[in-house]
Amino acid sequence: MDIIFKCPECEQELAVDSAGAGSEIECPSCGEKIVIPEQAPAPVAPVNLPPPPAAGSGGAHQPVNAIASSAAAKVEMHLKVPVSAKPTGSLIAKSNKPLEVAAKETDKKVRVKTIRHTDCIEVGHDKFDEFVSSFLVKVGEPNVISINPLTYTHIDIGSQKLLTDYAVMIVYRG
Ligand SMILES: [Zn+2]
Repeated sequence: MDIIFKCPECEQELAVDSAGAGSEIECPSCGEKIVIPEQAPAPVAPVNLPPPPAAGSGGAHQPVNAIASSAAAKVEMHLKVPVSAKPTGSLIAKSNKPLEVAAKETDKKVRVKTIRHTDCIEVGHDKFDEFVSSFLVKVGEPNVISINPLTYTHIDIGSQKLLTDYAVMIVYRG
């Protein structure tokens, strides 16, 4: 089997018996002393004399590294499964904390807040929804037990007439 390589000086393509690999010869084309490479990776590829053995040895190492890295990657993948499982476990454990919070919340008293529509009108602007919303935010959603709509009548000071309006009664813990 012949080793086919190119002279680094004149790029003359040369074919030498593989038995002569590593020995120094004179290029038949330009007369420069060149070393026959161990193997020529590709006949057409431009081959410098020292690199092919280095590239060959490097190529031999690369698959080993690739296998090692892929094996390491598999190990990482195996490790990741338990790691991702642990947070799930801690999340389940965290479900106890809301119970503790709930236990503390039972210490709070049940209170009632009635918000009347007429009390929420400022300078002609109806801020009823805003008032109720801000109150609910202040109480906190978990503390809200119920929200009950009400209607009531009151005397309008301007017209001296009885007017019916609406309100909400919020039952909450606080
Ligand atoms: Zn040459």
